[in-house]
Amino acid sequence: MRPIYLDNNATTRVDPEVVQAMLPFFADQFGNPSSAHAFGASVGAAVKKARRQLQALIGAAFDDEITFTSGGTESDNTAILSALEAMPNSTEIVTSAVEHPAVLTLCAHLEKTRRVKVHRIPVDRLGRLDLDAYIAALTPHVAIVSIMWANNETGVIFPVAKLAELAKEVGALFHTDAVQAVGKLPMDIKSTAIDMLSFSGHKLHGPKGIGALYVKRGVPFRSLIKGGHQEHGRRAGTENTPGIVGLGKATELAMKFMDDMTTRVKSLRDRLEGGILQRIPDTCVTGDPLERLPNTANISFEHVEGDGIPLLLSRVGIACSSGSACSSGSLEPSHVLSAMKTPHQAVRFSFARDNGEADVDRVFEVMPAILAKLRSAPGRRSADDVQSNSCLSRSRTGCHS
Ligand SMILES: *Cc1c(COP(=O)(O)O)cnc(C)c1O
Repeated sequence: MRPIYLDNNATTRVDPEVVQAMLPFFADQFGNPSSAHAFGASVGAAVKKARRQLQALIGAAFDDEITFTSGGTESDNTAILSALEAMPNSTEIVTSAVEHPAVLTLCAHLEKTRRVKVHRIPVDRLGRLDLDAYIAALTPHVAIVSIMWANNETGVIFPVAKLAELAKEVGALFHTDAVQAVGKLPMDIKSTAIDMLSFSGHKLHGPKGIGALYVKRGVPFRSLIKGGHQEHGRRAGTENTPGIVGLGKATELAMKFMDDMTTRVKSLRDRLEGGILQRIPDTCVTGDPLERLPNTANISFEHVEGDGIPLLLSRVGIACSSGSACSSGSLEPSHVLSAMKTPHQAVRFSFARDNGEADVDRVFEVMPAILAKLRSAPGRRSADDVQSNSCLSRSRTGCHS
């Protein structure tokens, strides 16, 4: 049976056009872009073209505001560490409780090793940021705010342009992890007060191990990786030229497919949500009904243990992911869903441009039997355990609040 991939927030299929664009840079286009001779010049020109392609996708004012990195994680780490170093008199960080581990693990480390104070702004049951808590945390002691543009588990979008304006008022730098937002939402970063923005190649049909950090001109910056003068002195090391060219192509394609994402892909997602709520009792869709990525569905199923659904779906060739991470036999609830005080047995389906109606139909076909099997299992949770005010919409029965 044809495998179906509905886990596009974890990674995406590399677009064949991206692969084609990269191939010469593993072969005759092997030059070092820093070299003065012809071997270097053509590769240097390709890197410059990619920088312009990234600039266009996020609406940056200048191409030298884009620095290539090894991915979203490095970009996030660079932004936060740079701000702390550039602003030695400010020792606080404001972030949210639902950030990616690329931000949260670093913040916890800094708290332990550098006596940095970290404010983790909570979210409500729909995954929306607590604005009052955010404003209360903003003081002149804050070096940097790092708040994601859109959440990878729920797709909930935070009002980053407004949050950046508020940060500016106390003199803090504003960074956003936009790994899940770039390529899914139109952006014009130059018209915002956002100082730094991270993104990643493999979440938008580009290669893995390449990403970028946008740093607005005039924003103080300290490099994380020291060495040669590459990337305007912001990120040393000979450039990952095949990756850079691939990411450039991927951003160009993301612009071309933006309409497809916001219309057709969104309607596939909506149809999946509606169809599951209609077919399966005691289910609900999680997250902010108004501000959500077009491709992400996070669905809670009552009376189901752990990650049973993704497991049984994978046996019939459907890839999605669970809201819980299973480590050494014990189920760890997702920090995002815990912050939303939502039941933990959620399933994330995330779509992309290579999905079609047949993928959704196949899920509808197999879900009733999977749910019947899991819900008849002995030792399942009782309905009373489940709090469910996080529902965006729900099946006619269940998810009682
Ligand atoms: C995937 C992801 C990252 C990490 O990006 P990598 O390129 O895999 O390092 C960071 N933040 C978010 C929101 C992500 O979804």
